[in-house]
Amino acid sequence: MLQVNNLTFGYSRTKVLKEINFKVQPGENLAIIGESGSGKSTLLKLLYGEYDLKQGEIYWKDEQILGPEYNLVVGYDFMKYVTQEFDLMPFTTVEENIGKYLSNFFRKEKRIRTKELIEVVELEAFAKTKVKLLSGGQKQRVALARALALEPEILLLDEPFSHIDNFQKQGLRRNVFNYLKEKNIACVVATHDKHDVLGFADQMIVLDNSKIIVKDTPQNLYKNPQSALIASFFGEYNIIEPYGIVYANQLKIVEHSELKAIVKQSYFNGSSWLIEALFKEDIIFIQHENELDIDLDIYFTVLM
Ligand code: ADP
Ligand code: MG
Repeated sequence: MLQVNNLTFGYSRTKVLKEINFKVQPGENLAIIGESGSGKSTLLKLLYGEYDLKQGEIYWKDEQILGPEYNLVVGYDFMKYVTQEFDLMPFTTVEENIGKYLSNFFRKEKRIRTKELIEVVELEAFAKTKVKLLSGGQKQRVALARALALEPEILLLDEPFSHIDNFQKQGLRRNVFNYLKEKNIACVVATHDKHDVLGFADQMIVLDNSKIIVKDTPQNLYKNPQSALIASFFGEYNIIEPYGIVYANQLKIVEHSELKAIVKQSYFNGSSWLIEALFKEDIIFIQHENELDIDLDIYFTVLM
């Protein structure tokens, strides 16, 4: 189990993280979300032992994670970390990069393992291609596969799918996160993309103002977002008294109701339209099946 106890950290006197506490069980997927600059990457770096801690402790099982003051080489064998800048060997092939840390002593095992990982990240067609010829997204996939190669006990992922295009993102997320579950590898994923979290994370932590403001399952936080920051992570939302925070898909346009608004704009969303409307003094967003004319009067109800 990963255990973070009362961690407080700053690069200078200003604290980036304050009184951080959480645990991650073997095989568990924990998402860390928060706005840009909220300290997600810093937290992952601390978990990896990149900096010395003056306040707080980090353990994986019985081993304390310590920084460069105590370790000549940063990092531990049981832990792998895929940073936002993946550090690959550009002049060697995808295959060689992924197999880099696998022993040459077991040639057959190495070959099988490398092939399996290339399949997980869907790079079969590029196995023999030199990394320098790949796109950013393909490089990110090589970095993911290489981190998985030695089956770490815990994997730290910083915005792991940020460079991968939308055509392949969702399938790749399923491959990687299912693989981690299968091998019982714990993972901590820093992200601002809800698609990295929904359907995959067991728990999520929200960082705001240097602190953990909430830790819960994605389902519970979606159903009961305690603040606008949390709701904004999941989608378009409104604050409508006396109901509080309601998502655009919780507002339903009806023939008649007490709640009246005026259409200002319609945005095509694929499976539906997002209607921007003026309600009293405020702009609200309503999910609807069609486009609506500008300045049309509409009535809506709140589905709770
Ligand atoms: P996130 O990953 O959530 O975007 P970061 O952990 O990268 O946030 O950054 C948190 C804060 O720490 C930011 O204010 C950032 O400017 C600052 N910061 C990050 N890295 C360093 C560093 N190496 N030296 C000084 N300040 C840093
Ligand atoms: Mg970051």
